[in-house]
Amino acid sequence: MSFTFNTIKKAFAKEPKYRFRQAIKAVYAQFVNTWEEVSVFSKDQREQLDQECPLDIAAKAMPSGDRRTAKAAFRFGGDIVEAVLMRHPGRNTVCVSSQVGCAMACNFCLTGALGFKRNLSVDEIINQVLYFSRELKKENQRVANVVFMGMGEPLLNYDTVMATVRKLNDPGLFGIGARHISISTCGVVPGIKRLAKEAIQLNLSVSLSAADNAVRNTIMPINKTYPIERLLLAVRDYIKQTRRRVMIEYVLLKDINDSPAQADALIKLLGRTLKELYFVNLIRYNPTGRYQPSDRETGKIFKSILERAGVTVVERYRFGQDITAACGQLAGRKHGFTKNNK
Ligand code: SAH
Repeated sequence: MSFTFNTIKKAFAKEPKYRFRQAIKAVYAQFVNTWEEVSVFSKDQREQLDQECPLDIAAKAMPSGDRRTAKAAFRFGGDIVEAVLMRHPGRNTVCVSSQVGCAMACNFCLTGALGFKRNLSVDEIINQVLYFSRELKKENQRVANVVFMGMGEPLLNYDTVMATVRKLNDPGLFGIGARHISISTCGVVPGIKRLAKEAIQLNLSVSLSAADNAVRNTIMPINKTYPIERLLLAVRDYIKQTRRRVMIEYVLLKDINDSPAQADALIKLLGRTLKELYFVNLIRYNPTGRYQPSDRETGKIFKSILERAGVTVVERYRFGQDITAACGQLAGRKHGFTKNNK
């Protein structure tokens, strides 16, 4: 078992409160690797802590060829999950997993093919960010953004994800601004409704990827429970309540959802939302076996149709494809996590 907030608390049970606070600050704000580094504690105490409550995070690093992406595979209990660091100049983003596997079964996503195993805990999600915070500290850098776009459906692990967000946001801990934290959902409507009522100003991303129910039903089974109309109504209410911009994610699949007619249908659909408060993120499909990515030209046409209608469009840079760290390619397979390894 690796360390948690609670194991640290236990290790400090007999100490004055301020000692525990010093410990938490060292681990979650200064990102020390061992207690040895925490010089406010006596040498004896540091040695004892390193014995009793070691600060190791069981992870295997996998740097990518372009050096802008790093994937790490974490061992939590018997399970393996993955997280990815993406380096933009001056802006490091960590993409975290919120579940082991995923129940949503989107058929273009590798995690979806694994099925669901379990929810991650607050500490397990936090430690993914902590791991990269320690790595970046070596270069005097920090994690600026966290996106819940790794394995799992964050809104189906709602309370844990929100508790994690609060810890990431806490100025005494990671101090990552709420506006730099994004939650991406495949369209869990009750979760979006709850999120709309939260006081915290995070970013919501919605994986739409189709403009009509017939297509969406075939690629994202969640659509049978929450069809497009209900989903976009929830998004519209979310925007009205929070006045926050929402990102609409759209994975372009060749001959499935990338025709000019489908671009027009998307414009019509979104037209009923509040135009200035959403933008579309076109995502190039990272092959997982089932589909083909849209041709460049087709993607360009799709994008220009949206833009001509006044929709703001951004394209996702494909980080880390060579290490299968790109969207939809997180599966932990190479490390022995399979659907049945109970
Ligand atoms: N469950 C959440 C978060 C994880 S997926 C959600 O569905 O939003 C994060 C993003 O990666 C989603 O927008 C999803 O549509 C996209 N994605 C999944 N598989 C992909 C693939 N093979 N290629 C490109 N993007 C993919």
